[in-house]
Amino acid sequence: MAAQKPHMNLAFIGHVDHGKSTLVGRLMFEAGAVSPHIVEQYKKEAEAKGKGSFEFAWVMDSLKEERERGVTIDIGHQRFDTDKYYFTIVDCPGHRDFIKNMITGASQADSAVLVIAAPDGVMAQTREHVFLARTLGINQLIIAINKMDAAKYSEARFKEVKEEVGKLLQMVGYKVAEIPFIPVSAFVGDNVIARGDNLTWYSGPTLLESLNNLKEPEKPTKLPLRLPVQDVYTISGVGTVPVGRVETGIIKKGDKIIFEPANVTGEVKTIEMHHEEAEEALPGDNIGWNVRGIGKKDIKRGDVCGHVDSPPTVAKEFTAQIVVLQHPSAISAGYTPVFHCHTAQIACTLTEIKAKLDPRTGAVKEQNPAFIKAGDAAIVTVMPTKPMVIEKVKEIPQLGRFAIRDMGQTIAAGMCMNITPR
Ligand code: GDP
Repeated sequence: MAAQKPHMNLAFIGHVDHGKSTLVGRLMFEAGAVSPHIVEQYKKEAEAKGKGSFEFAWVMDSLKEERERGVTIDIGHQRFDTDKYYFTIVDCPGHRDFIKNMITGASQADSAVLVIAAPDGVMAQTREHVFLARTLGINQLIIAINKMDAAKYSEARFKEVKEEVGKLLQMVGYKVAEIPFIPVSAFVGDNVIARGDNLTWYSGPTLLESLNNLKEPEKPTKLPLRLPVQDVYTISGVGTVPVGRVETGIIKKGDKIIFEPANVTGEVKTIEMHHEEAEEALPGDNIGWNVRGIGKKDIKRGDVCGHVDSPPTVAKEFTAQIVVLQHPSAISAGYTPVFHCHTAQIACTLTEIKAKLDPRTGAVKEQNPAFIKAGDAAIVTVMPTKPMVIEKVKEIPQLGRFAIRDMGQTIAAGMCMNITPR
């Protein structure tokens, strides 16, 4: 069964109009993830209108219409299988809360397909998304150089774009040699699942084969336990039961644990997972855990559970690298938006903008700038208005990233570089 295979969350990123939706649609369609009765229905409608020969375009149009009417099928949340994995497609950047969801774990992508239209090459959002992918901790990428049909299926053009993208990826720190570059046409279907006859000069993997070749994401069991609290319940006859997802490390029955910043300690009495008792829980597991010695009022959402001998870090102040995605004007020292980090939402003041960085290379462009704006990357000093658990991204990446929100928008994404503990 599909559910027994390892699961992967996959994001499609890239410049607007480079073909992300079309490629997802093609993949779904050819992987058999669009249900046969829907395909049958589309076929009939297409035939009735004399368009029977082009089912796929018809499926895409119909999906798009349905999306615009706000109903039923959202290809952005579809699932499909390869031999090895069971994939869920998570939203693309551009969708309202993608960045926040990525950081808070609601839609954490394990890997991403970067789509670049061959006729256009690298564009502004291609750069932005590559930088974001890196900031958000997406370690595995597949590059789909799309619309090869509109570039005369030219190997020379493919090579040009590949080199351009390769430079960009290398600048932000990806290992280019390990990344597959695939010439595709989402429109015609070349190299998505079937090879087709148009790209005979290419002998590498198809998109589907590359997806199948992704490395299984490793569970960070060797890192210290970090288990952010999502909610806290009192269950009669049981006691206080916080619930949450293990981000790193392992929690076992009998463990001595501490919640920070609440600064209370206790002992794990039981662990419940999928309505059954468990001896231990690993990264990715959603659990409820009953704690001896702690009342419901002692802890709340945003607290983080760790072992007493390796407690979560409470920051008085921290330095961070951020990238500003959108802001109506400029951001200067004193700005106090809300930081979303694991399950915590805490107002924090940017007390100092130490340096403006080149978002593509990370090189310092300006020391102590008066302000930063959309498109800028920067090193900033941050002072939470209340105690807050955060970790250095180098030590515990899962707890080192955050989204900055203000006025109902995600303003920036960032990672914690250094901490002055409480
Ligand atoms: P998105 O904004 O990245 O999701 O891009 P879309 O999937 O909406 O595609 C943008 C436009 O490019 C649409 O008109 C598509 O029909 C077209 N398109 C997508 N893939 C291809 C392709 O492989 N070849 C050609 N010629 N056009 C494509």
